[in-house]
Amino acid sequence: MPTSFTHDPPPQRVVFAPGAIAQVETETARLNILRALVIATPGSGERLGARVVSLLGGRAIALHAKAVIHVPRTIAEGGLTAAKAAKADGLIAVGGGSAIGLAKIIAINTGLPILAIPTTYSGSEATPVWGTSDGDRKTTGRDNKVVPRTIIYDPDLTLALPANVTAASAMNAMAHCVMGLWSPERTPATVAFATDAMRRFGDHLTRAVANGKDIESRGECLIASWLAGTVLTAGTGLNHKLAHVLGGYGLPHAETHAVLLPHTTRFNLAANTDANPRLAEALRTNDPADALEKMLLGFSIPRRLRDLGFSEAKIPDAAAQVGALKITVPRPVSENDARALFTAAY
Ligand code: NAD
Repeated sequence: MPTSFTHDPPPQRVVFAPGAIAQVETETARLNILRALVIATPGSGERLGARVVSLLGGRAIALHAKAVIHVPRTIAEGGLTAAKAAKADGLIAVGGGSAIGLAKIIAINTGLPILAIPTTYSGSEATPVWGTSDGDRKTTGRDNKVVPRTIIYDPDLTLALPANVTAASAMNAMAHCVMGLWSPERTPATVAFATDAMRRFGDHLTRAVANGKDIESRGECLIASWLAGTVLTAGTGLNHKLAHVLGGYGLPHAETHAVLLPHTTRFNLAANTDANPRLAEALRTNDPADALEKMLLGFSIPRRLRDLGFSEAKIPDAAAQVGALKITVPRPVSENDARALFTAAY
């Protein structure tokens, strides 16, 4: 644990309950929102968005079900135009990180408050991190303006989340927790959140993936994803940095995090810090990296970088990029180390 730290979480109201979506109108009123633009992804997300519009009654001005992963520039511009055209005074994002990501980009440009209703485990609703993309180029930043003022967690909404999205978005959240145990900006609170989240994911994720209708496990994983998102406010770690480099080659976000996690965990555990016993205790194992690998192997998501379409020939280039980052915490990562990590994950 660091001997000095600053803990400065943004204010955020969190409402958690099965059936909590019924409280969306009351919670929107609490934020003084009279003309809400509801943001969702197309398809099943649009149906959920329409349900939220109906629950909001006169407080909903329009449904904008056009969110796309990584918020491409044209999608961001379309969302901003829709918010301005509707004269919206607030945003209700319902769905996963894609819907919440579009709301964040509108918020950073307009200052509109966000109420988030997350339906995956990726945790964006609890972070000040925003991101947008233009072709292969991703831009990210941090601003408390994009932190949703209120989160409504309703585990009932996650019962239909497909097994592969369940597994990949939760492993993305676990990566925030595991790496958060080594973050130089960690605080006693973020470490406690990360440890508790890992225990919940460890006990319940495999059950939630095997049986999506297991409401107890769905609820536990949703609580864990909130805690994991909160941990991300204390910065990112090795897994995120490698995933970011691979994102430059077009690899998918959550799945890349999932594939890398056992390898980066094994690498960092070799530093032998106080994170080791915490992680071992949370996952109820002597070998946390092995436990994460077994978890990954039990899911129907890609297990190796080659399964994600990554070319082995690109490993030296990717490793050089990681070497240039001069990562030192919890242990130095040389270009050779990065090559070995990518090769193992490949
Ligand atoms: P997602 O929002 O892209 O959703 C994946 C798919 O699942 C979509 O097709 C969606 O319609 C569907 N879906 C979502 N919830 C569902 C449900 N309950 N039932 C049925 N289908 C459902 O997935 P994600 O992994 O949550 O988000 C990925 C995006 O979030 C990426 O752009 C990533 O960069 C971003 N992200 C941002 C942060 C942050 O802090 N800013 C953190 C994590 C992820």
